[in-house]
Amino acid sequence: MEGIDLHTHSNISDGTLSPEQLVHAAIEKGIHTLALTDHDTMDGLILAEQAVKDAQIKIISGVEISSQWSRPATKKSYGVHVVALNMQNPAPLQALLEQQKKIRAERAKQICDLLTPLIGEDIYLDVIAKVDHIPDRVTRTHIAKVLVEKKFVSRPQQAFDKYIKEGKKAYVKFDGLGLAETVDVIHQSGGFAVLAHPTRYDLSATNIRYLIEIFAKFGGDAVELPPAVEPASTRQMVDRMIAEFGLKVSVGSDFHGENMPWIRLGNIPRVKEGQMGIWDSFV
Ligand code: AMP
Ligand code: MN
Ligand code: MN
Ligand code: MN
Repeated sequence: MEGIDLHTHSNISDGTLSPEQLVHAAIEKGIHTLALTDHDTMDGLILAEQAVKDAQIKIISGVEISSQWSRPATKKSYGVHVVALNMQNPAPLQALLEQQKKIRAERAKQICDLLTPLIGEDIYLDVIAKVDHIPDRVTRTHIAKVLVEKKFVSRPQQAFDKYIKEGKKAYVKFDGLGLAETVDVIHQSGGFAVLAHPTRYDLSATNIRYLIEIFAKFGGDAVELPPAVEPASTRQMVDRMIAEFGLKVSVGSDFHGENMPWIRLGNIPRVKEGQMGIWDSFV
């Protein structure tokens, strides 16, 4: 599985490379199978495909969907990212992504409105300028960037910790598709549903296990392997859950360009013996 990266972002969402630049960077790194998985949009796909000449690289259609799930016993809902890969007939998914984009655009405005009294300034127009004035592309990464540039915080992480992460005053939940619905629409579009970065949701081991269990129950196809920088014990826990619920695995770097310079394109964890890669199912 050398040369595969199934989770990457371009400047159509919160990456810094254009889809074309991303494709060229991937070719230079020797990547032969690349999925562009921007947040709630597939608008970069056509640009990525146009950058391919001579079939040096295979572009897999993709999108990282902002979804949510809950435990029946509690009312609380938790955010979760589902990476959709290799759609053969994107129309059903595209229709729901239009809804997701509306939610994203409205949420950007809501977050800025909540920030205004906290920082004494309305930064909405600066935020929109970061995304070519297309509000449905705004992520919290863009908002964090503006807060750094305007010196309200010194680093993007501080913007999350002080204002925009869950529990903070300018946090706005992404009230998007439910998990079962997300898996269903991906399948209706002839794609595969991958549970993204299961260890990055700030969940207890019990809740991670429950999430993977219901994801499998809803028909989810694969779980993304944690990056090699995470502790071996974390990886072992995820490996056990993947085996227990009979899921396949996916590999992706979650590359964001200079917005997250510590993540390298094509840097993916190793697959353990016995694990089945979702990429072997691609047509
Ligand atoms: P959004 O989809 O608008 O909620 O933005 C999500 C993006 O923000 C993620 O893809 C990450 O790139 C970034 N992000 C989310 N949570 C954090 C955090 N606690 N610290 C830094 N970046 C974060
Ligand atoms: Mn992101
Ligand atoms: Mn994510
Ligand atoms: Mn991502």
